[in-house]
Amino acid sequence: MHLESPGMTKPIFVTKPFLPPLEEFTPYLQQIWDNGILTNCGPFHAELERQLADYLGVSHISLFNNGTIALVTALQMLAGEGEVITTPFSFVATAHAVLWNRQTPVFADIEPGSLNLDPDRVEAAITPRTTAILPVHCYGNPARTAAFQDIANRHGLKLIYDAAHAFGVQDASGSVLNHGDLSTLSLHATKVFNTLEGGAIVSHSAQIKDQIDKLKNFGHDGETSVVATGINGKMSEINCAFGLLQLKYVDAAIARRGEITAAYRTGIDAIEGLDYLSPALGGTKPNYSYFPILVRPDYPRTRDDLFHHLKANGVHPRRYFYPLITAFEMYRDLPSASAANLPVARAMADQVLCLPIYPDLDDGAVARVLDLLQAP
Ligand SMILES: *Cc1c(COP(=O)(O)O)cnc(C)c1O
Repeated sequence: MHLESPGMTKPIFVTKPFLPPLEEFTPYLQQIWDNGILTNCGPFHAELERQLADYLGVSHISLFNNGTIALVTALQMLAGEGEVITTPFSFVATAHAVLWNRQTPVFADIEPGSLNLDPDRVEAAITPRTTAILPVHCYGNPARTAAFQDIANRHGLKLIYDAAHAFGVQDASGSVLNHGDLSTLSLHATKVFNTLEGGAIVSHSAQIKDQIDKLKNFGHDGETSVVATGINGKMSEINCAFGLLQLKYVDAAIARRGEITAAYRTGIDAIEGLDYLSPALGGTKPNYSYFPILVRPDYPRTRDDLFHHLKANGVHPRRYFYPLITAFEMYRDLPSASAANLPVARAMADQVLCLPIYPDLDDGAVARVLDLLQAP
């Protein structure tokens, strides 16, 4: 047996996947063993698509084996050749999906309050080659959806949301996933709701869903016909079963994230030089998927100093999203990656720090994190 030495405290990581009780998963496995269907859109796949559409409040959803392939497929469906305007302040998969389609990413700056793509900067970046806009609902805070739809309409552009952080998020109109032409989700282990690995595309008609479902199955249209250069984007029955079980716990998981968020906010209100994003940004039903703070110049430590200080004390936050996507070698020579084009994103990437947040994080651990922030 491993005994912890006195004074040793367990490390606190930025996230920890939620695992339902193991014994509750065995009946699902038994069913898979009994019917012998492992993948290729079997019964659990159909059931998870049905339950997710219902839970999320969307009309059509297509499951994928991960969020990146979902994003690649969404852009393949709609964007064609040309330029896709997106944010540098995101996980690198957002821009990689554009490159995988041989499209050109064009980066526009973000807003300092929300860290989401700035509609005015997007509009200024439109050229005759622009085909689509790809905003991210960063940290689950809805992007400026009305402004983006207006721009897309006026310029005849497609609008695809990388909603990887926005599972379950609603605004005044309902699910945030109903905006734009398509929205993609990531159901990766680190996200609010996970199927181990997984992703999805939300669409608005049976016909579009049918096209997406062909693309995720090699472009097959029946046994002897292939109509598009599709990929293998199918989610296996084991992943779907895990999702069905996980879905029973997701409301409780989000509720606990909400409690942790409230505790962090109260603690940070009392700390000079640290800010969090306005609670008003989270929509009418937030998912509390991340807890980013901004380490301002009047805080006693720089962001990187604080990051290393916390790690030295067993707390492991993450600097999402530092470095910016535009710092990576496949992007940094693009004209839109220049420092002059992205002043806000660059400043924010140097201040942001995402604190640990996950359903199993207990009050004691939250207090430990706050203590370290208070007495730097
Ligand atoms: C997680 C994530 C992805 C990629 O999803 P995977 O399921 O890991 O492939 C894409 N975009 C953003 C913003 C993400 O956070």
